[in-house]
Amino acid sequence: MPELPEVETIRSKLAGLAGRSLERVEIRDPRLTRPEPPDAVAAALEGERVADVRRRGKYLVVVFESGRHLLVHLRMTGTILHPAPAGAEDDVHTRAIVRLDNGSDVVYRDVRRFGTWELLEPGELEEYFAARRLGLEPLGRAFTTARLAASLAGRRIPVKGALLDQRAAAGVGNIYADEALWYARVHPLRPAGELGEPEVEALRAGIRKALRLGIRRQGASLRDYRGADGGRGRMQEEFRVYGRGGEPCERCGTPIAKTRVAGRGTWYCPVCQRRA
Ligand SMILES: [Zn+2]
Repeated sequence: MPELPEVETIRSKLAGLAGRSLERVEIRDPRLTRPEPPDAVAAALEGERVADVRRRGKYLVVVFESGRHLLVHLRMTGTILHPAPAGAEDDVHTRAIVRLDNGSDVVYRDVRRFGTWELLEPGELEEYFAARRLGLEPLGRAFTTARLAASLAGRRIPVKGALLDQRAAAGVGNIYADEALWYARVHPLRPAGELGEPEVEALRAGIRKALRLGIRRQGASLRDYRGADGGRGRMQEEFRVYGRGGEPCERCGTPIAKTRVAGRGTWYCPVCQRRA
């Protein structure tokens, strides 16, 4: 599932679309836009000119000159490809194709079909994110130890669960949560509200380190994720714990353990990351 670094990698490749107009929009899968009818969304998008392509958490935010925003959430297996790869027109997993005014196509591909496109009218963006209690951008200046501590305070759920629910930091998912907790030497099942200030400080640093590494390696390509140019990311070569059950911890040599937190497979070092 694409997390902040994967979405950021796609965003940076799509930033060059600024100034392009959407000439023809074909949305093939009604699940992408529901409850809005796909033809209505496609018709509304035609003629819009891209001002910028941004990211908020795991959302891609296409900003139009009209003030509207198209919010794209890739969920499990969505990806955006530009230019269109050969055969995309006939690919059964192609859910939408956008023809630009320079004749090139942007292709939205999604095997599992959980991804969403939402077209927001001018002025609706902040309210949209506020309603979802989306937390701070973890690579932004506002993401301080004090702010992270405040968002964890009083919460009894496991700290990993608190990271996954996006309220403490937007964009961290299963992979980067495990990596961040390993860097921070914090056990994933520790109650979020019980972390001391040094641990919160280490967690903040661990989150940023894992995410920055992910961006530098252009994301992790496990199954379906590809960059916008179809290239694979290399973050999977940098994993310290994620998916590495039984392999030695690179800090202490102890075999990496696996458990479940918030229903998700979770890897950690039982020596570096003590539960109590
Ligand atoms: Zn260790």
